[in-house]
Amino acid sequence: MEPDHPQEECGVFAIAAVSNVSIDIFYALRVLQHRGQESAGIAVYNNGIKTVKGMGLAHQALKTEDVRNLKGDLGIGHVRYSTFGSSTLENAQPIVVSTNYGDIALAHNGEIVNADKIMDELKKKGWAFITSSDSEIAVRLLANDIANTGDPVKSLKNLMSMLQGSYSMTIMIGNRVFAIRDPLGIRPLCVGRTKVGYAAASESVVFDTLGGGFIRDVEPGEIAELLPGEIKSVKTGLSKGRAHCMFEWVYIARADSSIEGKLVYEVRRRIGQRLAKEQPVMADVVVPIPDSGRSHAIGYSEVSGIPYAEGLMKNRYVERTFIMPEQSERTTSVMLKLNPLKSVIKEKRVVLVDDSIVRGTTIRQIVQIVRNAGAKEVHVRIGSPPIRAPCYFGIDMKTREQFAATGRTVEQIGKMITADSLGYISVDGLVDAIGHASGDLCLACLTEEYPMPVAGEKVRYQRKLDAFV
Ligand code: SF4
Repeated sequence: MEPDHPQEECGVFAIAAVSNVSIDIFYALRVLQHRGQESAGIAVYNNGIKTVKGMGLAHQALKTEDVRNLKGDLGIGHVRYSTFGSSTLENAQPIVVSTNYGDIALAHNGEIVNADKIMDELKKKGWAFITSSDSEIAVRLLANDIANTGDPVKSLKNLMSMLQGSYSMTIMIGNRVFAIRDPLGIRPLCVGRTKVGYAAASESVVFDTLGGGFIRDVEPGEIAELLPGEIKSVKTGLSKGRAHCMFEWVYIARADSSIEGKLVYEVRRRIGQRLAKEQPVMADVVVPIPDSGRSHAIGYSEVSGIPYAEGLMKNRYVERTFIMPEQSERTTSVMLKLNPLKSVIKEKRVVLVDDSIVRGTTIRQIVQIVRNAGAKEVHVRIGSPPIRAPCYFGIDMKTREQFAATGRTVEQIGKMITADSLGYISVDGLVDAIGHASGDLCLACLTEEYPMPVAGEKVRYQRKLDAFV
């Protein structure tokens, strides 16, 4: 089965505490598992940096014994879905390098837009790379800079001024732990408390699980240093605005996480409510596509007054269909994953609600499953506008050809997926539901206007400049 959702990228975590942290990191990675299922890794400081890494889900990749044997009060962790570089153990993170200053370990969520350019320049200078990962470029630049400055904070700032793109990173330099966020804050990153110290994570839900609490989001362009008793903040002055990825709220983050002050569940519910106003339909039942469409469907039902019912049952023990980037491994059957509840669907006009359509192949199969279960009509409502443009900031949507919306009107997409009708939320509706100004969000895959220069694409402020021509 091909994915009908944007692919997650990675999850990062860091902690500084007064006791051993490897088990806490392991649990944090389990909580962040939805952000990446290909590999997992932990690095702790104990007279040098020690790591365990492996392929697969965190509990498969990291053996309990190995995690227990990893002793240290400072550490970072990573779960990976590769958007850059192939899916191999060499590309699993944290990446560790040795320098005269001490060991450096780095975990990265996001994508460096100028990675190829930097790599080409460095190769010309004789630098060698072991992996194809953009994160290796970052760690090598950092190691090289520290050799000159001897100052981790200064070198982190220098690194941030060299990298373009999205990055939420957790980094250990010798026995110091940092969390840094790119100047536009594209991917999420926040800091919080655990029972034994301070931590940084891709999503706030981690702190709940570790018995602590969320403190705040890391600011765009901020360097946060974690210490067992405090969080030190350095503002780099590199941030000139914000561009938080709208897809974090729409699909990627867990519903119980809060990003930039907005609880993801509530945003999704508001999206569904707005969708019901913008795309009403006469129907008998609102059915979510589990699990991604559930909160949106609840909102749709609330405003439309059409009863909500779970009409599709999900087999929890079939792994997520888009775990592996290799296309052949995506092509499992939708039927293996979803089974219709005929008593809910039969002879009903059904509104099927999901968060997004990427290719349209999966939703087409689901529409057919619902029809075969006896639905009179199947109307599809989608909680994000049509995806029209690639993402260069860490979500695996790389070419326009793959999108259902490329070269098709909404009506044509509706026909393609064999729905009786299809309706998407508008960009304005989505922005209102998220609750941040559109200028503070990245909407590039919807609007084709990017928050930073990307070769061959339009920058979002270009339209305003065009008006003066
Ligand atoms: S292009 Fe789309 S998926 Fe990528 S960061 Fe921007 S909003 Fe998110």
